[in-house]
Amino acid sequence: MVAKTIPVDPFDLVIIGGTGDLARRKILPGLFRRMCAGQMPDEARVIGASRSDLDADGFRDFVREALEEFAGETQCGDGAVDQFLAKLDYVSLDVFGDKGWKELKASLRPDVIRAVYFSVGPSLFGEIARKLSGHGITDEHSRIVVEKPFGHDLDSAKVLNAELRACFDEHQIYRIDHYLGKETVQNLMAVRFGNALFEPLWNAQHVDHVQITVAETVSVAGRGGYYDKSGAMRDMVQNHLMQLLCLSAMEPPAKYGADAVRDEKLKVIRALEPVSPAEVVRGQYNAGGDVDSYVAHSEDPNSKTESFIALKVKVANWRWASTPFYLRTGKRLRGRMSEIAIVFKDPPHSIFEGEFKRKGNVLVIRLQPDEGITLRVTIKEPGPGGMRLTEVPLDMSFAEALGDQVSFMPDAYERLIMDVIRGDQTLFMRGDEVEAAWAWVDPIIQAWQDAGDTPVAYDPGGAGPDDSLMLLHKDGRRWREIKP
Ligand code: NAP
Repeated sequence: MVAKTIPVDPFDLVIIGGTGDLARRKILPGLFRRMCAGQMPDEARVIGASRSDLDADGFRDFVREALEEFAGETQCGDGAVDQFLAKLDYVSLDVFGDKGWKELKASLRPDVIRAVYFSVGPSLFGEIARKLSGHGITDEHSRIVVEKPFGHDLDSAKVLNAELRACFDEHQIYRIDHYLGKETVQNLMAVRFGNALFEPLWNAQHVDHVQITVAETVSVAGRGGYYDKSGAMRDMVQNHLMQLLCLSAMEPPAKYGADAVRDEKLKVIRALEPVSPAEVVRGQYNAGGDVDSYVAHSEDPNSKTESFIALKVKVANWRWASTPFYLRTGKRLRGRMSEIAIVFKDPPHSIFEGEFKRKGNVLVIRLQPDEGITLRVTIKEPGPGGMRLTEVPLDMSFAEALGDQVSFMPDAYERLIMDVIRGDQTLFMRGDEVEAAWAWVDPIIQAWQDAGDTPVAYDPGGAGPDDSLMLLHKDGRRWREIKP
């Protein structure tokens, strides 16, 4: 059975940066897949805009190639690509000049939802906002979508927020963190707040600690220049891992709605304790096998940017006092794995004799690979060997449980773009959330900059630096395995 989709209302979606990498790999193929799923109404239109001197047919050729490469399996039949291409238009414009803006305005319809996706670097955001409102292309009903990175520190994030808010109201601004568009991330809320089973145990009394891991096998090759100015803390922790932490730690919102959920996430960020240098491990990968070292792709041979980071984070509130959250993310690790593991405390007393060591239950929310949820439980080992205990996973792989519904599950970008058209901001970051996250991250970065801290080297293909293992060992805990 394929998941039901409800068509959204007719819309004009302008993609500024429509010829860029993100548009080619994610946004345009995602829109195509939504059309195939029946979610895009016949009247929907997509207008690409960038400096490239293309006409509508030239843009359609670009999009045809993008679909061939990136659309993947869809529910579409023959003719669908042409049907999608017929929805496209293109305007050549320069964000910093006057060229093209009048043409863009003339190409848009007055009576449909209007959204503008800023699929360009953040240095263009303020100028695009000014051009859109200055030319009367957007009004109080329009929506804008902005990409990460949203600033590189608190000050720059405040400047970006001020530039956008000078032209748009907060309810019109959709700041993308594509992790929030992942099915399992929303499932985390469904599991927590849709079942009576977990919430009573979801606190310091029963949870020993929480591990959040986003491990990547890829290197920084191809984006070394950009990455070197960012590093794992800014590129991953400030946004993606922070969002996962918030959804794991937040109080139940009064309802599933944009401000109710975001208010609760903001409270978590504001409750984070400052992190001391002893609770942070930064790493940078060496060369190994046929893999270049991190610095081989950086412009600075002495770069001190981290490609790995692990932190012990404390949420100073009633629910989580004494239950640490361990976060880690890195490149060139053994496997590609993103998960949140809620590690429950051991049972207080064992009635069983023997060698079996009592272990707490672990609830794992897997974002990738194989999105799903696993609960590790203790059972009796089968057979007549007496009362011997063992651990097994109660596994719910979405792919197995939901069959075809998963094959055509929208990817994060598809889901989020449709939420923009529906006007649902729940899975988008609010300006105050982004600023609060930077306010927590900045002093951590400042502390290692002040100390001239150098990341420790780690070999590619492993689990990161040994020091990160020690971060848990000294608390009598261990990281979950990163599998190949
Ligand atoms: P990109 O490949 O460099 O594309 C940039 C786009 O902006 C191009 O279409 C470019 O076209 C247009 N552009 C640049 N300057 C312009 C100007 N002055 N006026 C009008 N158009 C202009 O960048 P990208 O990888 O698509 O990334 C876009 C944004 O998404 C960035 O903020 C990035 O951090 C974020 N992001 C990207 C990815 C990804 O996978 N690529 C993932 C997450 C976030 P012309 O040169 O023809 O003008």
